[in-house]
Amino acid sequence: GVLKEDEVNLVIHGHEPTLSEMIVTVADDPELINYAKSKGAKGINITGICCTAIEILMRQGVPVVGNFLQQELAILTGAIDAMVVDIQCIIQALGKLVETNHTELITTSPKAKIPGATHIPFDEHNAQEIAKQIIMKAIDNFANRNGTRIPNVSSPLVAGFSHEYINYMLGGKYRASFRPLNDAIIDGRIQGVVGVVGCNNPRVTHDKSHNYLVKELISRDYLVAQTGCGAIACSKYGLLRPEAMEHAGEGLRSICETVGIPPVLHLGSCVDNSRILTVLAQVVHEGGLGEDISDLPAAGIAPE
Ligand code: SF4
Repeated sequence: GVLKEDEVNLVIHGHEPTLSEMIVTVADDPELINYAKSKGAKGINITGICCTAIEILMRQGVPVVGNFLQQELAILTGAIDAMVVDIQCIIQALGKLVETNHTELITTSPKAKIPGATHIPFDEHNAQEIAKQIIMKAIDNFANRNGTRIPNVSSPLVAGFSHEYINYMLGGKYRASFRPLNDAIIDGRIQGVVGVVGCNNPRVTHDKSHNYLVKELISRDYLVAQTGCGAIACSKYGLLRPEAMEHAGEGLRSICETVGIPPVLHLGSCVDNSRILTVLAQVVHEGGLGEDISDLPAAGIAPE
């Protein structure tokens, strides 16, 4: 999929995208690309896991390797030369895992150090140098690979809808408005809006409930908004692109096709759940569906 056999693969992982933004910028530095080439790689490939990945996907188009429960599997491909982690959702066992795999695990936050990892503390005042140091470590580790097992699977997605953009999509530049959505709900073409969000859970089948629920909801004409690992779960099964329309009910499909949005909207990382509330507040403000968010035909669920 998004990992490259012949390039240095660096994975950003966690929840704070500041350093990751800098890593993405610095990875385009011709000096570093030439350094990677001098070590036998064709280039530098930045990818991500968890919500740092989603933040950088939305802003820079960096592809996602997987969600929370895939971080160990990603290392087991043997193709990740460095995994850079900040805070939250970093499995502690990664430190043990890299003892027997070539990946350089790099912690960057004083709040999340892991035995077995190299610690390179992030300092905003020196971000560019630190990003460069990290990328150099990944490049130096490229030659230490011991066979790779990269699954040949990938799935495109449309990510990063904000309430401003939904407003624009619904009404255009000069008449941006939530009116078409409200009218569609009042007409019954859309039954309501459901936020399907949240983490993976190792006690249930990975991604299954997210996918099942989202398919069922859109087939019954509910517009779905997603964030975090739930969104990554559904993107793996092609539900976050316009072609997912084939699973949507007639009413929802008619609106999405007219407006040009997929039936499942990716609103960001898990810390962007508040964006869903902003959308709902806009719907209330538009009028005709109640005086409060609690009056709306809307629900939220974290199925795993
Ligand atoms: S959705 Fe949950 S598991 Fe996934 S990155 Fe966010 S907090 Fe972590």
